[in-house]
Amino acid sequence: MINVTWDKNICSHAGVCVTTLPAVFKIEGSQLAIDTSAADEEKIREVCAACPSGALNVDKA
Ligand code: SF4
Repeated sequence: MINVTWDKNICSHAGVCVTTLPAVFKIEGSQLAIDTSAADEEKIREVCAACPSGALNVDKA
């Protein structure tokens, strides 16, 4: 199981995460809700690496 953190001060709202993996990354108001159980760990890591601003960080839970 992995844990993904989101830094809203860094996020540029490019939307890569919510577009690529909408089951995991959802915008809720001004927050980003992240459900790491909704996709494979590898896929989630790919999306975090593709975030253009570096706002998504992956930790082992
Ligand atoms: S991919 Fe990164 S910059 Fe784009 S919305 Fe998601 S967290 Fe923000």
